[in-house]
Amino acid sequence: MNETRKPVLTGGCQCGAVRYALYAAPHNPHVCHCRMCQKAFGAAYAPLANIANADFAWTRGQPAVWKSSSVVERGFCANCGTPLSFRYTDAARIGFSIGSLDNPAAVAPEKAFGTESKLPWADAVPGLPASTTEGDIPAERLEQLRSRQHPDHDTERRG
Ligand SMILES: [Zn+2]
Ligand SMILES: [Zn+2]
Repeated sequence: MNETRKPVLTGGCQCGAVRYALYAAPHNPHVCHCRMCQKAFGAAYAPLANIANADFAWTRGQPAVWKSSSVVERGFCANCGTPLSFRYTDAARIGFSIGSLDNPAAVAPEKAFGTESKLPWADAVPGLPASTTEGDIPAERLEQLRSRQHPDHDTERRG
């Protein structure tokens, strides 16, 4: 890695095999409710933002890529499955999943796309009865739990 620029934001997959960096502020942060993003993320909608190809780099590993259509490539970790990127094959920019950022709170969606497929319960989510992870898992189970998730910052490659 010969990168000398300082990243503005970093992120990566759940297992840490694939990491990336942004060297400029992302633009067009949005959620996409389209049926293809629902499938690709296994979720109600996909939070994504765009960055110029020149301001984006994979800094550890490379995503596996699946062409979900004739013009779109979706990148994901082949080891843990985390959805990472979305790219029109002829575009000068790449989309990345906001949830895979080390600090996903830093990029707030400003638009909603693909609303023809918006799930009828999507707007009800903020009003659901709420609890924290610690509040849900019994203490004895929490004590046994050892996360394998990569921490929310860059690390030295091991091994
Ligand atoms: Zn992974
Ligand atoms: Zn979509």
